[in-house]
Amino acid sequence: MLEDKNQERTALEELGEFGLIDHLTQYVKIHHESTELGIGDDAAILNHGDNRVLVSTDMLIEGVHFDLSYVPLKHLGYKAVMVNLSDIYAMNAHPKQITVSVAVSNRFPLEALEELYAGIQTACTNYKVDLIGGDTTSSTSGLLLSITAVGATAGDAIKRSGAQEHDLIVVSGDIGGAYMGLQVLEREKAVYQVNPNSQPDLEPYSYIIERQLKPEARKDIVALLEKLEVKPTAMIDVSDGLSSELLHICKTSKVGCNLYEDKIPLDPQVIQTCEEFDIDSTTVALSGGEDYELLFTIKQEDFPKIKANPNLTVIGHITQEKEGSHLITRADTKIPLIARGWSAFTKDAKH
Ligand code: ADP
Ligand code: MG
Repeated sequence: MLEDKNQERTALEELGEFGLIDHLTQYVKIHHESTELGIGDDAAILNHGDNRVLVSTDMLIEGVHFDLSYVPLKHLGYKAVMVNLSDIYAMNAHPKQITVSVAVSNRFPLEALEELYAGIQTACTNYKVDLIGGDTTSSTSGLLLSITAVGATAGDAIKRSGAQEHDLIVVSGDIGGAYMGLQVLEREKAVYQVNPNSQPDLEPYSYIIERQLKPEARKDIVALLEKLEVKPTAMIDVSDGLSSELLHICKTSKVGCNLYEDKIPLDPQVIQTCEEFDIDSTTVALSGGEDYELLFTIKQEDFPKIKANPNLTVIGHITQEKEGSHLITRADTKIPLIARGWSAFTKDAKH
């Protein structure tokens, strides 16, 4: 048995999620040349000859990442796969295989797990990914789902670390929808608990609820960039919030950035719902999360190739590290960009 030499108790919230990962992995040594990139990006990069192999894993826990009172199991299965595929696309690569591990309590009948797997299967079919293994075990309470995705690229995998001064910051699609969809679902759950006969009209929120319950990984953007012959200098997926993802790029690339508030792409339904909930839409975009869009940097000379594309928006540019990372507001004031995205162990964690 391992002896517990350390009698001190340090609260995890003091470290935060990333501090904890850094702490636990500080002694990790790489033994193989084939491990081109280990911990620290959306996926690890393995180099086995001509092709680069990408590996990424994510875990979803009932009551932490999802609430089965409004998330249908079929959607949960679909989304769990999307979350993992998104990490492979974030390396500018293509997912090929997944493994799925589940732990379930006896609260769940077979039919529930069939639903979950129907969602996983649909995702595999839509994205041409093979389910190649996993593990099944019991849990004392609730459902745990862990998925590993394996991808490949014949070209270079794009890391978070390649952004350079003057590069443009680009984001796909629009931001903030998934978070606002969650707000609507949480509100309707609270209403339902008070009055189970209420029939919510979710029609005005259809887009943002779909963004929350049935996100799509941006396979099309990776294909589009190939077609346009644009090779990003750095890339990440927007799983937390725009600010925390952009700060990841800046930190690993050792650069700063200027992000322009008025350029952040928002769907009209996000703006409308933010007004209804009296929440600032920029805060939602910066800190919301779960959008699974791609955030990347490109060389300025590539701008003409992307500028006419409605799926891509330039939202800022990269500066020198010493200039820091800033949001340029609509009122043209410059404020420091801070990461308020999802962090598993901080006091104000949203999930
Ligand atoms: P993402 O948001 O893209 O899923 P994470 O923030 O979860 O990335 O993880 C950041 C990096 O830390 C990744 O390279 C991931 O593989 C690694 N990582 C996360 N948790 C652990 C752990 N418990 N042990 C080792 N590496 C970890
Ligand atoms: Mg993760």
